[in-house]
Amino acid sequence: MTVEPSKGVNVGVTPAPPHNRETDRASGTPLELLLLTEERDEAQIVAEMRGEIAETYVYSFQQGNRTITNLAYPGVKEAIRRRGNVAIVPCDCCKKAYHVEESGDDLRAIVKIHDLKNNVQFLGVSTCKKTVPFAYVVAANKAERNGLRKLLPEKEIALLIKEWSKPSKQPATQPAWKDTSQRP
Ligand SMILES: [Zn+2]
Repeated sequence: MTVEPSKGVNVGVTPAPPHNRETDRASGTPLELLLLTEERDEAQIVAEMRGEIAETYVYSFQQGNRTITNLAYPGVKEAIRRRGNVAIVPCDCCKKAYHVEESGDDLRAIVKIHDLKNNVQFLGVSTCKKTVPFAYVVAANKAERNGLRKLLPEKEIALLIKEWSKPSKQPATQPAWKDTSQRP
């Protein structure tokens, strides 16, 4: 599954998955689910860079007869803000907080996160197509998010999802995208 931004459109942002017809083709393998999540994160990172408020901490959508719910990118950030005690460890080779390298059509970012509370380190890794607007920043932010998410115990994530999923906190939009895995 590859979603390319429209050629010649230099201000285009890949819309969040429910409105992105390209992603409708995705069927139910975990990897594809992961990619959908990544796309949503990319869209939120870019929206935030443009000063738009990305207020959705939790997202959910239907996958067959299951509802998949998870922390969105702003939700991970908010959870970490509440938690504190986290540092980014500069890269050994380039001394930057975000190591970003090119790999074919992609940028690959690695961020090392230090959990100061438990004195343990995690790597956050991501890739981003070079054609995505602000690809460098998107790759770095996704890597950071992937690393930070590892600090959050599943139990805590479940509690936050519960808290942030209360009807008043979430817009009442239902995911428009259907499970197309039955399609021949
Ligand atoms: Zn480096």
